[in-house]
Amino acid sequence: MNETEKTELKLYNTYTRQKEVFVPIRPDLVTLYTCGLTVYNYAHIGNLRTYIFEDVLKRVLFYNGYKVKHVMNITDIGHLTSDADEGEDKMVLSAKKEKKTVWEIAEYYTKAFENDLKKLNIIFPDYHIKASEQIPQMIKLIQRLEEKGYTYFRNGNVYFDISKFPNYGKLARLDMDKLRAGARVAVDKSKKNPLDFVLWFTKSKFEDQEMKWDSPWGKGYPGWHIECSAISMHYLGEQFDIHCGGIDHIPVHHTNEIAQSEAATGKKWVNYWMHGEFLIFNREKMSKSKGEFLTLDLLNKKGYSPMVYRYFCLGAHYRQQISFSYEALETAKSSYNRLRNKIMEIKSNKEQSKPNEEFVKTIKHNFLERINDDLNMPEALAVLWKVLRTDKIGNKEKYDLIVEFDKIFGLLLERGEELLSAVAKQKVDTELIEKLVKERYEARERKDWTKSDKIRERLIRMGIEVRDTSKGTIWKVKE
Ligand SMILES: [Zn+2]
Repeated sequence: MNETEKTELKLYNTYTRQKEVFVPIRPDLVTLYTCGLTVYNYAHIGNLRTYIFEDVLKRVLFYNGYKVKHVMNITDIGHLTSDADEGEDKMVLSAKKEKKTVWEIAEYYTKAFENDLKKLNIIFPDYHIKASEQIPQMIKLIQRLEEKGYTYFRNGNVYFDISKFPNYGKLARLDMDKLRAGARVAVDKSKKNPLDFVLWFTKSKFEDQEMKWDSPWGKGYPGWHIECSAISMHYLGEQFDIHCGGIDHIPVHHTNEIAQSEAATGKKWVNYWMHGEFLIFNREKMSKSKGEFLTLDLLNKKGYSPMVYRYFCLGAHYRQQISFSYEALETAKSSYNRLRNKIMEIKSNKEQSKPNEEFVKTIKHNFLERINDDLNMPEALAVLWKVLRTDKIGNKEKYDLIVEFDKIFGLLLERGEELLSAVAKQKVDTELIEKLVKERYEARERKDWTKSDKIRERLIRMGIEVRDTSKGTIWKVKE
Protein backbone atom coordinates (compact mmCIF):
# COMPACT_ATOMS: atom_id res chain seq x y z
CA MET A 1 0.00 0.00 0.00
CA ASN A 2 1.17 3.48 -0.82
CA GLU A 3 2.07 5.58 2.24
CA THR A 4 0.01 8.56 1.08
CA GLU A 5 -3.08 6.35 0.84
CA LYS A 6 -2.87 5.18 4.42
CA THR A 7 -5.93 5.70 6.51
CA GLU A 8 -6.39 4.62 10.11
CA LEU A 9 -8.16 1.38 10.85
CA LYS A 10 -11.06 1.95 13.24
CA LEU A 11 -12.88 -0.88 14.95
CA TYR A 12 -15.89 -0.86 17.23
CA ASN A 13 -14.88 -2.11 20.65
CA THR A 14 -17.78 -3.63 22.58
CA TYR A 15 -15.88 -3.06 25.81
CA THR A 16 -15.91 0.73 25.44
CA ARG A 17 -18.97 0.92 23.12
CA GLN A 18 -16.91 3.10 20.79
CA LYS A 19 -15.12 3.01 17.49
CA GLU A 20 -11.43 3.13 18.29
CA VAL A 21 -8.26 3.45 16.27
CA PHE A 22 -6.77 0.00 16.19
CA VAL A 23 -3.29 -0.26 17.69
CA PRO A 24 -1.97 -3.80 18.16
CA ILE A 25 0.31 -4.77 21.02
CA ARG A 26 3.07 -5.68 18.57
CA PRO A 27 3.37 -3.33 15.61
CA ASP A 28 3.47 -6.01 12.92
CA LEU A 29 1.45 -8.90 14.29
CA VAL A 30 -2.19 -9.03 15.33
CA THR A 31 -3.23 -11.71 17.80
CA LEU A 32 -6.82 -12.80 17.26
CA TYR A 33 -9.06 -15.25 19.06
CA THR A 34 -12.50 -16.24 17.83
CA CYS A 35 -14.88 -18.56 19.68
CA GLY A 36 -15.51 -21.70 17.67
CA LEU A 37 -18.40 -24.04 17.24
CA THR A 38 -19.83 -26.58 19.65
CA VAL A 39 -19.67 -29.62 17.45
CA TYR A 40 -22.76 -31.61 18.33
CA ASN A 41 -24.57 -30.53 15.19
CA TYR A 42 -24.07 -28.65 11.92
CA ALA A 43 -23.37 -24.93 12.03
CA HIS A 44 -26.51 -23.00 11.14
CA ILE A 45 -26.34 -20.01 8.84
CA GLY A 46 -26.58 -17.64 11.82
CA ASN A 47 -23.34 -19.13 13.23
CA LEU A 48 -21.78 -18.89 9.80
CA ARG A 49 -22.62 -15.22 9.54
CA THR A 50 -20.33 -14.64 12.54
CA TYR A 51 -17.49 -16.57 10.91
CA ILE A 52 -17.90 -14.54 7.72
CA PHE A 53 -17.65 -11.31 9.74
CA GLU A 54 -14.48 -12.58 11.44
CA ASP A 55 -13.03 -13.58 8.08
CA VAL A 56 -13.63 -10.07 6.74
CA LEU A 57 -11.93 -8.63 9.82
CA LYS A 58 -8.91 -10.82 9.16
CA ARG A 59 -8.78 -9.83 5.49
CA VAL A 60 -8.96 -6.15 6.44
CA LEU A 61 -6.06 -6.65 8.85
CA PHE A 62 -4.04 -8.31 6.08
CA TYR A 63 -4.94 -5.48 3.70
CA ASN A 64 -3.57 -3.02 6.23
CA GLY A 65 -0.27 -4.84 6.16
CA TYR A 66 -0.53 -6.83 9.38
CA LYS A 67 0.33 -10.44 9.92
CA VAL A 68 -2.37 -12.21 11.89
CA LYS A 69 -2.06 -15.08 14.32
CA HIS A 70 -5.56 -16.52 14.60
CA VAL A 71 -6.71 -19.15 17.06
CA MET A 72 -10.16 -20.75 17.21
CA ASN A 73 -11.36 -23.45 19.58
CA ILE A 74 -13.51 -26.46 18.82
CA THR A 75 -15.88 -27.19 21.68
CA ASP A 76 -15.86 -30.95 21.51
CA ILE A 77 -16.53 -31.41 25.19
CA GLY A 78 -20.18 -31.62 25.99
CA HIS A 79 -21.35 -28.35 27.34
CA LEU A 80 -24.79 -27.72 28.52
CA THR A 81 -27.87 -26.71 26.60
CA SER A 82 -27.92 -23.22 28.04
CA ASP A 83 -24.94 -20.94 28.53
CA ALA A 84 -25.68 -20.77 32.21
CA ASP A 85 -24.36 -24.21 33.19
CA GLU A 86 -27.85 -25.61 33.25
CA GLY A 87 -29.78 -28.03 31.16
CA GLU A 88 -28.65 -31.17 29.43
CA ASP A 89 -25.36 -32.13 27.86
CA LYS A 90 -25.63 -31.34 24.18
CA MET A 91 -23.02 -33.79 23.05
CA VAL A 92 -24.56 -36.69 24.97
CA LEU A 93 -27.98 -35.74 23.68
CA SER A 94 -26.83 -35.86 20.05
CA ALA A 95 -24.90 -39.06 20.58
CA LYS A 96 -28.00 -40.74 21.95
CA LYS A 97 -30.09 -39.48 19.06
CA GLU A 98 -27.64 -40.61 16.42
CA LYS A 99 -26.48 -43.79 18.18
CA LYS A 100 -22.82 -42.80 17.97
CA THR A 101 -20.18 -42.20 20.61
CA VAL A 102 -19.70 -38.61 21.70
CA TRP A 103 -16.24 -38.69 20.09
CA GLU A 104 -17.69 -39.77 16.75
CA ILE A 105 -20.25 -37.00 16.94
CA ALA A 106 -17.59 -34.39 17.64
CA GLU A 107 -15.33 -35.64 14.85
CA TYR A 108 -18.14 -35.76 12.30
CA TYR A 109 -19.42 -32.26 12.95
CA THR A 110 -15.93 -30.77 13.18
CA LYS A 111 -15.27 -32.00 9.64
CA ALA A 112 -18.64 -30.70 8.45
CA PHE A 113 -17.89 -27.31 9.99
CA GLU A 114 -14.45 -27.10 8.42
CA ASN A 115 -16.02 -27.92 5.08
CA ASP A 116 -18.52 -25.10 5.50
CA LEU A 117 -15.67 -22.68 6.18
CA LYS A 118 -13.95 -23.88 3.03
CA LYS A 119 -17.07 -23.51 0.90
CA LEU A 120 -17.54 -19.97 2.20
CA ASN A 121 -13.95 -19.17 1.24
CA ILE A 122 -13.13 -18.37 4.86
CA ILE A 123 -9.41 -18.26 5.56
CA PHE A 124 -8.62 -20.98 8.07
CA PRO A 125 -7.42 -20.09 11.57
CA ASP A 126 -3.73 -20.79 12.12
CA TYR A 127 -4.73 -22.97 15.03
CA HIS A 128 -8.07 -24.76 15.19
CA ILE A 129 -7.83 -26.37 18.60
CA LYS A 130 -9.95 -29.09 20.13
CA ALA A 131 -10.88 -28.33 23.74
CA SER A 132 -10.44 -32.02 24.58
CA GLU A 133 -6.74 -31.73 23.77
CA GLN A 134 -6.15 -28.79 26.10
CA ILE A 135 -7.33 -30.23 29.41
CA PRO A 136 -3.92 -29.81 31.18
CA GLN A 137 -3.84 -26.10 30.29
CA MET A 138 -7.36 -25.67 31.67
CA ILE A 139 -6.50 -27.49 34.90
CA LYS A 140 -3.44 -25.29 35.34
CA LEU A 141 -5.52 -22.15 34.91
CA ILE A 142 -8.11 -23.33 37.43
CA GLN A 143 -5.29 -24.08 39.88
CA ARG A 144 -3.97 -20.56 39.45
CA LEU A 145 -7.42 -19.20 40.27
CA GLU A 146 -7.65 -21.52 43.24
CA GLU A 147 -4.27 -20.36 44.61
CA LYS A 148 -5.40 -16.75 44.38
CA GLY A 149 -8.63 -17.48 46.21
CA TYR A 150 -11.10 -16.95 43.39
CA THR A 151 -12.74 -20.36 43.63
CA TYR A 152 -14.71 -22.52 46.00
CA PHE A 153 -15.48 -26.21 45.96
CA ARG A 154 -19.01 -27.40 46.62
CA ASN A 155 -20.81 -30.66 45.99
CA GLY A 156 -18.02 -31.96 43.81
CA ASN A 157 -17.67 -28.92 41.56
CA VAL A 158 -15.20 -26.04 41.43
CA TYR A 159 -16.91 -22.65 41.09
CA PHE A 160 -15.62 -19.20 40.22
CA ASP A 161 -16.63 -16.74 42.91
CA ILE A 162 -17.64 -13.55 41.10
CA SER A 163 -17.82 -11.54 44.35
CA LYS A 164 -14.00 -11.70 44.42
CA PHE A 165 -13.72 -10.01 41.03
CA PRO A 166 -14.96 -6.41 41.29
CA ASN A 167 -14.94 -5.77 37.53
CA TYR A 168 -17.38 -8.61 36.87
CA GLY A 169 -19.94 -7.81 34.18
CA LYS A 170 -18.22 -4.70 32.84
CA LEU A 171 -18.17 -5.88 29.23
CA ALA A 172 -21.90 -6.55 29.25
CA ARG A 173 -22.57 -3.51 31.48
CA LEU A 174 -24.53 -5.79 33.73
CA ASP A 175 -26.47 -4.10 36.48
CA MET A 176 -25.26 -6.26 39.32
CA ASP A 177 -27.69 -4.94 41.91
CA LYS A 178 -30.65 -5.68 39.71
CA LEU A 179 -29.31 -9.10 38.84
CA ARG A 180 -28.74 -10.02 42.47
CA ALA A 181 -32.30 -9.07 43.30
CA GLY A 182 -33.87 -10.79 40.30
CA ALA A 183 -35.08 -14.34 40.73
CA ARG A 184 -33.72 -16.88 38.30
CA VAL A 185 -35.18 -20.17 37.27
CA ALA A 186 -33.38 -23.39 38.14
CA VAL A 187 -30.59 -21.86 40.16
CA ASP A 188 -27.85 -24.28 41.11
CA LYS A 189 -28.23 -24.49 44.88
CA SER A 190 -24.47 -24.95 45.38
CA LYS A 191 -23.70 -21.48 44.05
CA LYS A 192 -23.01 -18.64 46.47
CA ASN A 193 -24.13 -16.19 43.83
CA PRO A 194 -26.42 -17.13 40.94
CA LEU A 195 -23.84 -15.75 38.49
CA ASP A 196 -20.98 -17.87 39.81
CA PHE A 197 -20.00 -20.44 37.23
CA VAL A 198 -18.46 -23.89 37.17
CA LEU A 199 -14.78 -24.25 36.28
CA TRP A 200 -14.60 -28.00 36.82
CA PHE A 201 -17.38 -30.57 37.20
CA THR A 202 -16.85 -33.87 38.96
CA LYS A 203 -20.51 -34.33 39.82
CA SER A 204 -22.03 -34.75 36.48
CA LYS A 205 -25.75 -34.42 36.30
CA PHE A 206 -25.52 -36.69 33.31
CA GLU A 207 -25.08 -40.33 34.03
CA ASP A 208 -23.56 -41.50 30.79
CA GLN A 209 -20.92 -38.81 30.51
CA GLU A 210 -18.09 -40.39 28.49
CA MET A 211 -15.69 -37.47 28.38
CA LYS A 212 -13.89 -37.38 31.71
CA TRP A 213 -10.37 -36.60 32.80
CA ASP A 214 -8.38 -36.87 36.02
CA SER A 215 -7.89 -33.63 37.91
CA PRO A 216 -6.82 -32.44 41.36
CA TRP A 217 -10.55 -32.21 42.21
CA GLY A 218 -11.43 -35.67 40.96
CA LYS A 219 -12.39 -37.23 37.66
CA GLY A 220 -14.53 -34.89 35.64
CA TYR A 221 -14.64 -32.31 32.91
CA PRO A 222 -14.17 -28.55 32.54
CA GLY A 223 -16.88 -25.91 32.39
CA TRP A 224 -17.34 -24.34 28.99
CA HIS A 225 -15.90 -20.86 29.57
CA ILE A 226 -12.50 -22.00 30.80
CA GLU A 227 -11.53 -23.57 27.47
CA CYS A 228 -11.43 -20.25 25.61
CA SER A 229 -9.29 -18.59 28.29
CA ALA A 230 -6.87 -21.52 28.48
CA ILE A 231 -6.56 -22.05 24.71
CA SER A 232 -6.17 -18.38 23.83
CA MET A 233 -3.55 -17.76 26.52
CA HIS A 234 -1.64 -20.87 25.55
CA TYR A 235 -1.33 -19.84 21.90
CA LEU A 236 -1.49 -16.04 22.02
CA GLY A 237 -0.06 -15.15 25.40
CA GLU A 238 -1.67 -13.64 28.49
CA GLN A 239 -2.57 -10.46 26.66
CA PHE A 240 -3.71 -10.24 23.08
CA ASP A 241 -5.36 -7.87 20.62
CA ILE A 242 -8.81 -8.95 19.46
CA HIS A 243 -11.42 -11.40 20.73
CA CYS A 244 -14.55 -12.03 18.64
CA GLY A 245 -17.81 -13.88 18.84
CA GLY A 246 -21.54 -13.51 18.37
CA ILE A 247 -23.30 -10.88 20.50
CA ASP A 248 -25.05 -13.62 22.43
CA HIS A 249 -21.67 -14.34 24.02
CA ILE A 250 -21.45 -10.95 25.71
CA PRO A 251 -23.49 -11.39 28.90
CA VAL A 252 -22.31 -14.84 30.01
CA HIS A 253 -19.56 -16.53 28.03
CA HIS A 254 -17.29 -13.55 27.37
CA THR A 255 -18.12 -11.98 30.71
CA ASN A 256 -16.96 -15.16 32.44
CA GLU A 257 -13.93 -15.52 30.18
CA ILE A 258 -12.78 -12.03 31.21
CA ALA A 259 -13.38 -12.67 34.89
CA GLN A 260 -11.38 -15.88 35.07
CA SER A 261 -8.57 -14.67 32.77
CA GLU A 262 -7.99 -11.32 34.44
CA ALA A 263 -8.35 -12.83 37.91
CA ALA A 264 -5.65 -15.38 37.06
CA THR A 265 -3.13 -12.98 35.52
CA GLY A 266 -3.97 -9.78 37.39
CA LYS A 267 -3.83 -7.78 34.17
CA LYS A 268 -5.97 -6.67 31.28
CA TRP A 269 -6.56 -9.63 28.97
CA VAL A 270 -7.95 -8.42 25.63
CA ASN A 271 -7.77 -4.93 24.11
CA TYR A 272 -10.58 -5.09 21.53
CA TRP A 273 -13.83 -7.04 21.81
CA MET A 274 -15.81 -7.40 18.60
CA HIS A 275 -19.22 -9.01 18.22
CA GLY A 276 -21.33 -9.94 15.24
CA GLU A 277 -25.09 -9.34 15.30
CA PHE A 278 -27.78 -11.95 14.89
CA LEU A 279 -29.34 -13.37 11.83
CA ILE A 280 -33.07 -13.17 12.36
CA PHE A 281 -35.36 -15.83 10.96
CA ASN A 282 -39.11 -15.82 11.49
CA ARG A 283 -38.62 -12.88 13.81
CA GLU A 284 -36.34 -14.86 16.11
CA LYS A 285 -32.62 -15.35 16.55
CA MET A 286 -31.59 -18.56 14.83
CA SER A 287 -30.49 -21.03 17.45
CA LYS A 288 -29.23 -24.57 17.41
CA SER A 289 -30.66 -25.59 20.72
CA LYS A 290 -34.18 -24.68 19.60
CA GLY A 291 -33.99 -27.31 16.91
CA GLU A 292 -35.07 -25.48 13.77
CA PHE A 293 -32.19 -24.11 11.80
CA LEU A 294 -30.90 -23.67 8.26
CA THR A 295 -27.58 -25.00 7.07
CA LEU A 296 -25.34 -24.04 4.19
CA ASP A 297 -26.04 -27.37 2.50
CA LEU A 298 -29.76 -26.84 2.72
CA LEU A 299 -29.45 -23.43 1.04
CA ASN A 300 -27.24 -24.99 -1.60
CA LYS A 301 -29.84 -27.63 -2.32
CA LYS A 302 -32.37 -24.87 -2.80
CA GLY A 303 -30.13 -23.24 -5.40
CA TYR A 304 -28.30 -20.68 -3.28
CA SER A 305 -24.58 -21.28 -3.42
CA PRO A 306 -22.23 -20.50 -0.51
CA MET A 307 -20.95 -17.40 -2.34
CA VAL A 308 -24.51 -16.10 -2.66
CA TYR A 309 -24.88 -16.50 1.09
CA ARG A 310 -21.55 -14.74 1.64
CA TYR A 311 -22.69 -11.90 -0.61
CA PHE A 312 -25.99 -11.72 1.29
CA CYS A 313 -24.08 -11.33 4.57
CA LEU A 314 -21.75 -8.66 3.21
CA GLY A 315 -24.81 -6.63 2.24
CA ALA A 316 -25.35 -5.68 5.89
CA HIS A 317 -22.91 -4.25 8.39
CA TYR A 318 -21.81 -6.91 10.89
CA ARG A 319 -23.26 -4.89 13.79
CA GLN A 320 -26.72 -4.82 12.21
CA GLN A 321 -29.23 -7.61 12.44
CA ILE A 322 -30.08 -9.28 9.15
CA SER A 323 -33.53 -10.67 8.56
CA PHE A 324 -33.22 -13.85 6.64
CA SER A 325 -35.86 -14.72 4.07
CA TYR A 326 -35.76 -16.54 0.77
CA GLU A 327 -36.91 -13.36 -0.98
CA ALA A 328 -33.93 -11.48 0.43
CA LEU A 329 -31.62 -14.32 -0.55
CA GLU A 330 -33.09 -14.33 -4.05
CA THR A 331 -32.24 -10.62 -4.38
CA ALA A 332 -28.69 -11.32 -3.24
CA LYS A 333 -28.45 -14.13 -5.75
CA SER A 334 -29.45 -11.98 -8.68
CA SER A 335 -27.06 -9.18 -7.59
CA TYR A 336 -24.22 -11.64 -7.20
CA ASN A 337 -24.92 -13.13 -10.62
CA ARG A 338 -25.07 -9.71 -12.23
CA LEU A 339 -21.76 -8.89 -10.57
CA ARG A 340 -20.15 -12.07 -11.82
CA ASN A 341 -21.48 -11.65 -15.36
CA LYS A 342 -20.22 -8.12 -15.52
CA ILE A 343 -16.81 -9.28 -14.31
CA MET A 344 -16.67 -12.13 -16.83
CA GLU A 345 -17.43 -9.59 -19.53
CA ILE A 346 -14.57 -7.38 -18.33
CA LYS A 347 -12.26 -10.37 -18.01
CA SER A 348 -12.90 -11.54 -21.57
CA ASN A 349 -11.89 -8.14 -22.89
CA LYS A 350 -9.08 -7.43 -20.48
CA GLU A 351 -6.71 -5.95 -23.06
CA GLN A 352 -8.82 -2.84 -23.46
CA SER A 353 -7.01 -0.24 -21.38
CA LYS A 354 -7.65 3.37 -20.45
CA PRO A 355 -5.16 4.41 -17.81
CA ASN A 356 -6.30 7.04 -15.35
CA GLU A 357 -3.99 7.07 -12.38
CA GLU A 358 -5.83 9.79 -10.54
CA PHE A 359 -9.16 7.92 -10.70
CA VAL A 360 -7.60 4.62 -9.62
CA LYS A 361 -5.86 6.28 -6.70
CA THR A 362 -9.02 8.01 -5.53
CA ILE A 363 -11.17 4.90 -5.80
CA LYS A 364 -8.62 2.81 -3.92
CA HIS A 365 -8.54 5.43 -1.22
CA ASN A 366 -12.35 5.42 -1.02
CA PHE A 367 -12.34 1.67 -0.72
CA LEU A 368 -9.75 1.70 2.05
CA GLU A 369 -11.71 4.33 3.95
CA ARG A 370 -14.83 2.19 3.84
CA ILE A 371 -13.22 -1.05 4.96
CA ASN A 372 -11.20 0.74 7.64
CA ASP A 373 -14.35 2.34 9.00
CA ASP A 374 -15.25 -0.62 11.20
CA LEU A 375 -15.46 -3.00 8.21
CA ASN A 376 -18.20 -1.23 6.30
CA MET A 377 -18.87 -3.89 3.69
CA PRO A 378 -22.14 -2.50 2.24
CA GLU A 379 -20.31 0.71 1.32
CA ALA A 380 -17.24 -1.15 0.11
CA LEU A 381 -19.50 -3.13 -2.23
CA ALA A 382 -20.93 0.16 -3.48
CA VAL A 383 -17.37 1.22 -4.39
CA LEU A 384 -16.94 -2.03 -6.33
CA TRP A 385 -20.16 -1.39 -8.29
CA LYS A 386 -18.93 2.10 -9.05
CA VAL A 387 -15.77 0.62 -10.57
CA LEU A 388 -17.81 -1.72 -12.75
CA ARG A 389 -20.01 1.08 -14.04
CA THR A 390 -17.50 3.85 -14.65
CA ASP A 391 -16.24 4.85 -18.08
CA LYS A 392 -13.26 6.72 -16.63
CA ILE A 393 -11.01 3.65 -16.85
CA GLY A 394 -10.70 0.67 -19.21
CA ASN A 395 -11.30 -3.03 -18.58
CA LYS A 396 -7.68 -3.71 -17.70
CA GLU A 397 -7.76 -1.14 -14.90
CA LYS A 398 -11.17 -2.38 -13.75
CA TYR A 399 -9.99 -5.94 -13.66
CA ASP A 400 -6.99 -5.09 -11.49
CA LEU A 401 -9.23 -3.23 -9.05
CA ILE A 402 -11.71 -6.12 -8.86
CA VAL A 403 -8.94 -8.57 -8.06
CA GLU A 404 -7.59 -6.23 -5.41
CA PHE A 405 -10.97 -5.54 -3.76
CA ASP A 406 -11.91 -9.20 -3.75
CA LYS A 407 -9.07 -9.80 -1.31
CA ILE A 408 -11.48 -8.27 1.20
CA PHE A 409 -14.81 -9.61 -0.06
CA GLY A 410 -13.53 -13.13 -0.65
CA LEU A 411 -16.36 -13.61 -3.17
CA LEU A 412 -14.27 -15.45 -5.77
CA LEU A 413 -15.34 -12.76 -8.20
CA GLU A 414 -12.78 -13.59 -10.77
CA ARG A 415 -12.16 -17.28 -10.26
CA GLY A 416 -15.66 -18.55 -9.75
CA GLU A 417 -16.82 -20.93 -7.08
CA GLU A 418 -17.09 -23.95 -9.36
CA LEU A 419 -13.40 -24.35 -8.69
CA LEU A 420 -13.86 -23.89 -4.98
CA SER A 421 -16.54 -26.54 -4.72
CA ALA A 422 -14.28 -29.00 -6.52
CA VAL A 423 -11.56 -28.03 -4.12
CA ALA A 424 -13.81 -28.46 -1.10
CA LYS A 425 -14.88 -31.89 -2.29
CA GLN A 426 -11.33 -33.08 -2.62
CA LYS A 427 -10.09 -31.16 0.41
CA VAL A 428 -7.40 -29.32 -1.48
CA ASP A 429 -5.44 -26.50 0.06
CA THR A 430 -5.94 -23.62 -2.42
CA GLU A 431 -3.44 -21.35 -0.76
CA LEU A 432 -0.70 -23.95 -1.03
CA ILE A 433 -1.57 -24.63 -4.68
CA GLU A 434 -1.54 -20.95 -5.59
CA LYS A 435 1.83 -20.65 -3.88
CA LEU A 436 3.25 -23.63 -5.78
CA VAL A 437 1.84 -22.41 -9.09
CA LYS A 438 3.47 -19.05 -8.50
CA GLU A 439 6.82 -20.61 -7.57
CA ARG A 440 6.67 -22.77 -10.67
CA TYR A 441 5.90 -19.75 -12.82
CA GLU A 442 8.85 -17.88 -11.35
CA ALA A 443 11.13 -20.88 -11.91
CA ARG A 444 10.03 -20.98 -15.57
CA GLU A 445 10.74 -17.29 -15.93
CA ARG A 446 14.27 -17.97 -14.69
CA LYS A 447 14.38 -20.98 -17.04
CA ASP A 448 14.99 -23.22 -14.02
CA TRP A 449 13.33 -26.24 -15.67
CA THR A 450 14.40 -28.75 -13.01
CA LYS A 451 12.59 -26.82 -10.31
CA SER A 452 9.53 -26.07 -12.42
CA ASP A 453 9.21 -29.78 -13.34
CA LYS A 454 9.57 -30.82 -9.72
CA ILE A 455 6.77 -28.50 -8.68
CA ARG A 456 4.60 -29.72 -11.53
CA GLU A 457 5.08 -33.32 -10.39
CA ARG A 458 4.16 -32.36 -6.86
CA LEU A 459 0.98 -30.68 -8.10
CA ILE A 460 0.08 -33.75 -10.15
CA ARG A 461 0.47 -35.89 -7.04
CA MET A 462 -1.95 -33.53 -5.32
CA GLY A 463 -4.46 -34.11 -8.11
CA ILE A 464 -3.94 -30.71 -9.72
CA GLU A 465 -3.62 -30.14 -13.43
CA VAL A 466 -1.64 -27.12 -14.64
CA ARG A 467 -1.72 -25.64 -18.11
CA ASP A 468 0.49 -22.82 -19.39
CA THR A 469 -1.24 -20.33 -21.62
CA SER A 470 -0.21 -17.05 -23.15
CA LYS A 471 -2.04 -15.35 -20.28
CA GLY A 472 -0.31 -17.30 -17.52
CA THR A 473 -0.71 -20.64 -15.77
CA ILE A 474 -4.17 -22.06 -15.23
CA TRP A 475 -4.77 -24.83 -12.73
CA LYS A 476 -7.70 -27.07 -11.95
CA VAL A 477 -8.58 -30.12 -9.92
CA LYS A 478 -8.29 -33.25 -12.06
CA GLU A 479 -11.65 -34.77 -12.90
ZN1 LIG B 1 -15.30 -18.69 23.71
